[in-house]
Amino acid sequence: MTSAPSSVDRRELRAFVEDALERYGALVERGLRRSEAVLPSALASALQRDESVVITEESEELGTAELLCTLGAPSVEWLLNDLRREPVLVADQPDVAAPRANQARALAERVTFRNAVAVVGESRASTATYLHAIAAWVAEADDRFEGVVSVARNLQDGAHCAERYVERLPPGPALSEVPAIDPRIASEVHAHLSRSLHGAIAPIEAGIARRKEQEAARTIEYFAALWADLDNTRRKADSKALAAKRAAIVAERDAKLREIPGRYALRVKSRWVYARVCVVPAMLTELVVKRRKSERRVLSRLAAEAASLDVWACESCGGPAPRAAVCDERLHIVCEPCAPTAQGRWDCPACGRGA
Ligand SMILES: [Zn+2]
Ligand SMILES: [Zn+2]
Repeated sequence: MTSAPSSVDRRELRAFVEDALERYGALVERGLRRSEAVLPSALASALQRDESVVITEESEELGTAELLCTLGAPSVEWLLNDLRREPVLVADQPDVAAPRANQARALAERVTFRNAVAVVGESRASTATYLHAIAAWVAEADDRFEGVVSVARNLQDGAHCAERYVERLPPGPALSEVPAIDPRIASEVHAHLSRSLHGAIAPIEAGIARRKEQEAARTIEYFAALWADLDNTRRKADSKALAAKRAAIVAERDAKLREIPGRYALRVKSRWVYARVCVVPAMLTELVVKRRKSERRVLSRLAAEAASLDVWACESCGGPAPRAAVCDERLHIVCEPCAPTAQGRWDCPACGRGA
């Protein structure tokens, strides 16, 4: 039986619920004593709540406009157990004002490349399509670990948006059709999540490797002590019985050592729990990037209600390339880690991959 959570636990539980709701695309207004949330309709129906709810720790008068936040409450259990649920899929068009051309232009003028000049061209109104997706993972070895990794990318060119941009967009009317995802972008999104997953699991793997080594060392030490005890008492036993005892110690030690790898083998499972595709107004501003005798036209994008431009995806690794360099041959946009020295002649990893 678990005891009633203390007030600290309650605060932590409320923070967990607020964060979890936000991860599902809810807008949460955090208050000191109580919070309010606007839930995406799919989440509201999954939780059997209204779209606008008060997050409360009181249990009386619980209507569908309240989301009870205590251990064991159905909504909390749902959020805790989302691994076992069907993923929430939302495609919507938030009702947000189109960005202004002069704002997009002012931001485009500040774009710099590490080894090229950029000349700002025309701006035009457009739309932008973003994906925000969350995958939950479970890693099991001698212990069980779980967590979530998320990705938020533009689905037209894979650009990275400002942190939590998509999560902050208010829910809008559902789209009748989910926009098609370019397979190249889909594989980039997948690679992005895989990298995040590996990043999350690496310290767990290191801990498992450490405990595995410690257990092997302890096992060897234990049987070495048994062996030493045998040596100390050898005068009492005849040599044949002693040899049999020694063989038994070695056999038992080896059997124990053979069991260790299985116990510490890491099994990782992950699955989508939430994905939201949304279409918002955007302003595209052309940039003519000039490097030596070549030039390339690229588009910078300011999405509705964003404070900064989308960050290009590196054409080599897919990571964000805020301080990009461009290559001589094809003016590929390459991030700083992929092109640490971009002066003079350098080997472009994107050209090298045949991109
Ligand atoms: Zn890169
Ligand atoms: Zn290149």
